[in-house]
Amino acid sequence: MKQKIIVGAVIVGVAALLATGALNWQGIWPRVRHLFYRGRGAVSQMTQLDVKALNNPHLAQQCRANLRMLENAKRKVAQEKGMTVGRLTEKDLLPELPGRRWPRCPAGGEYILGDIGTMPKCTIGSAGTVRTEDDHIIINY
Ligand SMILES: [Zn+2]
Repeated sequence: MKQKIIVGAVIVGVAALLATGALNWQGIWPRVRHLFYRGRGAVSQMTQLDVKALNNPHLAQQCRANLRMLENAKRKVAQEKGMTVGRLTEKDLLPELPGRRWPRCPAGGEYILGDIGTMPKCTIGSAGTVRTEDDHIIINY
């Protein structure tokens, strides 16, 4: 859809320039063709990334597992410190995480720990589809 709009806009723009005689078709054709293929390549690369990262239930599932792991670590550290409110840092949680490593969203999202008592979030969040298996969200865990 995006691709069609971009290509359509370019065609309309070029056609208008040609019609008004501002452009000489022979001179610009190689450049137009070059830009068209470069633009098309860039657009298809972006779309593939979007589909792969945002609508992939498998990656979302891994992300939700990471979020649950972060929430477990958060609850454990909060309990040990006797905290019921406030905020913990990445450094506080590291000893409770497997391999003392901060998890990474497999689709490229960033984790936001949030306050004690709220669920950690992935910046991808809802994938924007009706189904929930591709969402990077944990609720009422
Ligand atoms: Zn994620």
